[in-house]
Amino acid sequence: MGLSRLLRVSNRSFLAFIFFFSMSTTGLYFIYVAPGIANTYFFMVQAQGIMLRDNVRTIGQMIRLYTNKNSTLNGTDYPDGSNSSEYMSQPTAYLPENFTYAQNLPCPERLPSMKGPMDVNMTQIPMEEIDLKFSKYLDVHFGGHWRPKDCKPRWKVAILIPFRNRYEHLPILFQHLTPMLQRQRLQFAYYVIEQSGTQPFNRAMLFNVGFLEAMKDLDWDCLVFHDVDHIPENDRNYYGCGQMPRHFAAKLDKYMYLLPYSEFFGGVSGLTVEQFRKINGFPNAFWGWGGEDDDLWNRVHYAGLNITRPEGEMGKYKSIPHHHRGEVQFLGRYKLLRYSKERQHLDGLNNLNYTPEISLSSLYKNITVDLHPDLAPIADY
Ligand code: UDP
Ligand code: MN
Repeated sequence: MGLSRLLRVSNRSFLAFIFFFSMSTTGLYFIYVAPGIANTYFFMVQAQGIMLRDNVRTIGQMIRLYTNKNSTLNGTDYPDGSNSSEYMSQPTAYLPENFTYAQNLPCPERLPSMKGPMDVNMTQIPMEEIDLKFSKYLDVHFGGHWRPKDCKPRWKVAILIPFRNRYEHLPILFQHLTPMLQRQRLQFAYYVIEQSGTQPFNRAMLFNVGFLEAMKDLDWDCLVFHDVDHIPENDRNYYGCGQMPRHFAAKLDKYMYLLPYSEFFGGVSGLTVEQFRKINGFPNAFWGWGGEDDDLWNRVHYAGLNITRPEGEMGKYKSIPHHHRGEVQFLGRYKLLRYSKERQHLDGLNNLNYTPEISLSSLYKNITVDLHPDLAPIADY
């Protein structure tokens, strides 16, 4: 082989080099084109480490407990303080079954209709079936609007769903979410914000568009930003807003029901209209997979707010398995995230232009937009 003689290496090490080089390039390419899968995998490896460490710690405590009679441990104390909320949390009181509603009073947050764990059924169903079921039997009005009649809804919630080419997910989401929101006695409607055109997917910009459009319909006071493939597993995960922005999707099955990292704010989150305006909405500059949720977390914290999460079992979600159909990682996200603070008031709700195409169906309003970076011009910072 001419080249290897020229480089004065043996044929065998030359071949080995070619082999490992192509392996690593293939690996990197895979991470790039299948960001979800790669990230899930890296997380799993990390999570196994965490679980292992926790188990070792728990076993260590058990041994200490059984071998040391003078131990102060009583089975619920964790002296290193690492197992805080879940072990300590007391069962919270929900109203009794015979609670009577009053039309002129606000609906309580902890209703007897909220039973806890829900059955999740991922089988695909036609949208027509769901349409019929909800409009005929569950009293959902055109465009997906519903409000409780036996009490005054505590929150008017716009559910915003970013969307492109995931048609089979939508009916599955509606099927689970609708009865849950009704049991929570919230006023709500669904907005599906669909990206057309050929640009990379921009989840954050879709949410900004969805917010501006939804506010034209009704004076919503609470916004829930909802991935189409996240199905809540517990109806006590209350979709109202609060003093602080809320991260609902705290425990995902695909992340072994562990929070990937404490700044994680993806999947399903909720802000009041006031909080969302204060942080200038989502950034528009994140094209492709990843980073926009971390930027939102930064925005929330720069505004002096903090996020809250549902406790324990309540924050569980199942994700509908899916492939990444030609979406790629957004590699520019790390640079943008370094300048979250500077960009916060330059890029967001205040620099966004768009032309929506709106259509109404029985369960939701579809807002289709062709997104392009020119629609959100940003001055240098
Ligand atoms: N999404 C979509 N079509 C796409 C990409 C994303 O509808 O081609 C929406 C959808 O609501 C999805 C969310 O954006 O749940 C987040 O994207 P994705 O599910 O790809 O992220 P991952 O689950 O891999 O973190
Ligand atoms: Mn997903």
